Amino acid sequence: MKILISADMEGATGVTWPADVLPGTPQWERCRALFTSDVNAAALGFFDGGADEVLINEAHWSMRNLLLERLDERVEMLTGRHKSLSMVEGVQHGDVDGIAFVGYHTGAGTEGVLAHTYLANSITGVWLNGTRASEGLLNAHVVAEYGVPVVLVTGDDLTCADAEGYAPGAHKVAVKDHVSRYAAVCRTPSRTAADIRAAAKEAAGLAGRHDPVRGGPFTVELEFDAEHLTMAATVVPGTERTGERRVAYTSETMYDGIRTFKAVTTIVSSAVEEQYG
Ligand SMILES: [Zn+2]
Repeated sequence: MKILISADMEGATGVTWPADVLPGTPQWERCRALFTSDVNAAALGFFDGGADEVLINEAHWSMRNLLLERLDERVEMLTGRHKSLSMVEGVQHGDVDGIAFVGYHTGAGTEGVLAHTYLANSITGVWLNGTRASEGLLNAHVVAEYGVPVVLVTGDDLTCADAEGYAPGAHKVAVKDHVSRYAAVCRTPSRTAADIRAAAKEAAGLAGRHDPVRGGPFTVELEFDAEHLTMAATVVPGTERTGERRVAYTSETMYDGIRTFKAVTTIVSSAVEEQYG
């Protein structure tokens, strides 16, 4: 049994503030250890539950945050940028039996600690076929096309509630309770590690590839915080303006859908100016 862990940072233990997750800050250096603790706890739990292999895919910012030297020696870690499936890279090779979303968070424009979708602030909402979409929901559709079930989700309490929508059968662990976008009631890393390890052990029992799910066509709509970003986004073929600050596109598969999403967010982020956005 092989488990893939997609590891994002905003939903990690103790993390509530932008500097906690921005590479290069002193607080990020401290929070890397908390993030690593969550991910390692999940890996240990999956091994407890019978996994033979655990591959960790770094999914936050520059994708170079976890402390490899503090991880269990049985894991392997994919670190660094430029991967065709981004946050769920590694799921496409036909050998993954289950995936865990560790350290995930809620979507742009919704309640939740450090809520956003891909870009920290410029995207104010994402909808998939008319439903509000978090990164978890988008990635759940990608992995479903490879027949891989989401077996575990960790993050704040609202992230767990969001995951009930896209992975109702998965085990969930809330490592903190949302108070505001930048505040949470946090539990200690020793406690959350125990909770995550126990849940991952149970979640291993949910692993097992199923037939690929073709849920398309997928219409993805994005809303930005400034009008010029709409103009920037619509240079991507297939996108069209659907409002003053909105664009949409339709893809037959989520594989294509997530790649177009990446193209749009890359171009939009290059059009964001300091202060004015
Ligand atoms: Zn994220």
